[in-house]
Amino acid sequence: MEVCVCKHCGKLYNSRIKSTSCRECAYKDIARFQIVEKFLLDHPRSNAIQLSAALDIKIQEILQYIDEGRLVIINEKVQIPSK
Ligand SMILES: [Zn+2]
Repeated sequence: MEVCVCKHCGKLYNSRIKSTSCRECAYKDIARFQIVEKFLLDHPRSNAIQLSAALDIKIQEILQYIDEGRLVIINEKVQIPSK
């Protein structure tokens, strides 16, 4: 078991795998990431700073997505990894 901290509500919780959203907040995380994903589809050559400014999200949050493997940096541009 891993002890995780929810990045949305700050709650500590146990999870079998390392994660960043508790069960109650998972839906927020999915909704938020969909906005990021949509922006990147519309603006495929964005870097982290442009993404952060356009969507009003913290660079840290983008780095978190990269950590989670949901985004990748290719040639200094933020991209959605091909599945
Ligand atoms: Zn939470």
